[in-house]
Amino acid sequence: MAVSRSELPSRAYDAIVVGSGISGGWAAKELTEKGLKTLVLEAGPPIVPARDYAEHVPAHALSYRGFANRRALNREQPVQSQTGACDEWASKFFVNDRENPYSYDPKAPFAWIRGRHVGGRSIMWGRQVYRWSDLDFEANARENIAVDWPIRYADIAPWYTYVEKFIGVSGQAEGLAHLPDGEFLPPMQLNCAEMHVRDAMTKRWRGERVLTVGRCAVLTRPHEGRAPCHYCGPCHRGCITHSYFSSVGSTLPAASATGRLTLRPNSVVAEVMYDERTDRATGVRAVDAETLAPLEFRARVIFLCASALESARILLNSKTSRFPTGLGNSSGELGRNVMDHVFGAGASGTLPGMDNRKTFGNRPNGAYVPRFRNVTENHPDFLRGYGFQGGGGRSSWLRGMRTPGFGAAFKDSLLSELGPWEMDFGGFGECLPRPDNFVALHPTLKDKWGIPALHVQCTFGPNERAILKDMRVTAAEILEAAGAKDIKTSDDELPPGLCIHEMGTARMGRDPRTSVLNGWNQSHDVPNLFVTDGACMTSSGNQNPSITYMALTARACDYAVGRLKRGEI
Ligand SMILES: Cc1cc2nc3c(=O)[nH]c(=O)nc-3n(C[C@H](O)[C@H](O)[C@H](O)COP(=O)(O)OP(=O)(O)OC[C@H]3O[C@@H](n4cnc5c(N)ncnc54)[C@H](O)[C@@H]3O)c2cc1C
Ligand code: SF4
Repeated sequence: MAVSRSELPSRAYDAIVVGSGISGGWAAKELTEKGLKTLVLEAGPPIVPARDYAEHVPAHALSYRGFANRRALNREQPVQSQTGACDEWASKFFVNDRENPYSYDPKAPFAWIRGRHVGGRSIMWGRQVYRWSDLDFEANARENIAVDWPIRYADIAPWYTYVEKFIGVSGQAEGLAHLPDGEFLPPMQLNCAEMHVRDAMTKRWRGERVLTVGRCAVLTRPHEGRAPCHYCGPCHRGCITHSYFSSVGSTLPAASATGRLTLRPNSVVAEVMYDERTDRATGVRAVDAETLAPLEFRARVIFLCASALESARILLNSKTSRFPTGLGNSSGELGRNVMDHVFGAGASGTLPGMDNRKTFGNRPNGAYVPRFRNVTENHPDFLRGYGFQGGGGRSSWLRGMRTPGFGAAFKDSLLSELGPWEMDFGGFGECLPRPDNFVALHPTLKDKWGIPALHVQCTFGPNERAILKDMRVTAAEILEAAGAKDIKTSDDELPPGLCIHEMGTARMGRDPRTSVLNGWNQSHDVPNLFVTDGACMTSSGNQNPSITYMALTARACDYAVGRLKRGEI
C-alpha cells in the first residue's frame, strides 16, 4: 500500500546519526553527552547479547559442528564467507549478499564485507588499534600524491587519547615516533616464541625492526564498568562481558544513559534531504527494513557513519538540482579514491627447542611488527610501508591435516603431544589513493529495500604489488634471523576489500575543489553535514584504521556542537 506524504512519520531531532557501528556509536555518545537530542538510524536489527553472542557455545552444540552449512553460505553469503570470521557461530553478524547486492568487473573483484545490525562491525572486528603519526599524515604532501591531509598528528593526538581512555587499549609503549604510544592498559604477554623472535630481531636490526604485543581494544583490567578479558578466545562471536570495545557494550550505553538517545533499528537510510534556499541538509529519507514503509526524519545536523562505501552510496543517491551527481559533490571526488590495505603475503616457520613450554588460555591478540620500510630510508621499489601481524603458538592435533601419516599410532601421537612451536607473520600494507578506484550508483541494480546498489571498481596497483613482494621477503628474513626451520612464504594477491579496511570515498582536504570534506569532517558544500567513517580518509596508512575513525568522529562532534551552539551551522 502506498503511504501518502502526510502519513509519513517525521520528527525533529537536534542530530541524526546514520549507522550504529564503530563511528556511529561514537557520534551517538559524543552528541548526546554534549546535550543534543540525537536519533541514531541503524539499517539492521537490534542485538541482544544474551541471545545473540556465541563465544562460549561449543562446536558440538551447533547444527554443523562448527563446519557451517556450506550450501547456505555459498548461496546467501558467498562474499561474506571469504572472511574467516563469517563462521557457523558468527555468520549471522554478516550481511546477506543477495539482499545487499553490488557489482564489480569479474576481472577486478572487490570483497565488500559488512555487518548490518546495531553495533555494525564493532561486534566482529579484530580490535587492533594503532595510532597514526605524521609519517602518515604528511605522506601525500611529501610525495605529491592525491591531496594533502588537512590535519596533522597534533590535531588528532588529544582525540586518540580521549578515545583510548574510554575504550580501553592494552598495549606496550615502545617509544617509536612513527607509531606513537597511547594511553595503555597493561599489555598482554608475549609467549616464549614471540619473545625469542623479538630478541633475535633486536640483536639483528638494533631497533629498526621491532616486535611488540598487539595493541588491542581488549581490557586487561576492569575499566569503565566492564570486566577484564577472561581469554576465552573467539571474540568475533561477541563478548558477553563486554571485555572488548564494541558500540553495543560501550558507546551506545553511554549515549543511552544521557536520556537523549533515540535508537531506531531496521531503518535503512536512502538519502539525505537538502534545502537549496538555506543551503542546509534538513534530514534523511529512509525505509523501514521490516515493513518497507517510507520514513522521514529531520534534524539540525547530520552525521553519516554508515561505513565508507555505504555513506558514499547515500550521498551519491541524494541528488538535487545543485548537486546532480550527489550531495556535497561539487569537487567530483565523491565515491573516488577507494582504498583498502593490501595483505596476503608473509611467512611462517617452526621454532626448534622450547618443547617443554606451552601457553594457557586463548589470548585474543597477537604480536605486531610496526612499519620499518620508508621510515628513515627510501626503499627503491615502493612508497609507504607495511606492518606485520601474527604470532607464535604450538600446533595442535589439527597439524595432522598437513602432516604425512595414518593409523592409530599416528592419531595417538597427534593427541598425546603438542606439535612444534610455530611463528607466522602476515603483512598489512598501505594502499595509495587513486581516482580510478571508485564506487558509483549502479544504473539498475537495487537492494532489497529498493535503494540503488553500488558498482565498485577497485584494483591494487604496482606500488601495492611491490609491497606484497617485499612483505614475503622480510617476513622470511625475520624468521631466519630467529633460527626458524621449514620457512614457508605466502604471497596470495587477495582482492581489495577483503582486508575489511575499505576507506576513502569522501576524502578530507583543504581545497573544496579537490576534496569532499574539510579538516573537521564537515562537507565543504553543506555545512551541517558531517561524514566521519572511513569515507573521510585521504590516505590509508598501514595501521588498522578504526581508532582513527573514532578519534576523528569525537573531534568532529566537538566541532559540530560548538558551531551549532553558536548558531553558525
Ligand atoms: C572480521 C573483521 C576484523 C576487523 N579487524 C579490525 C581491526 O583489528 N582493527 C580495525 O581497526 N578494524 C578492523 N576491522 C574493520 C572495522 O570493523 C571497521 O573499520 C569499522 O567497523 C568501521 O566502522 P564504521 O562505523 O565505519 O562501520 P561499521 O562498524 O560497519 O558500522 C556501520 C553501520 O552502519 C549501518 N548502515 C549501513 N548502511 C546504512 C544505511 N543506509 N542506513 C542506516 N544504517 C546503515 C550498518 O548496518 C552498520 O551497523 C575489522 C572488520 C572485520 C569484519
Ligand atoms: S577473549 Fe576476552 S574479549 Fe574475547 S570474547 Fe573472550 S572475554 Fe571477550
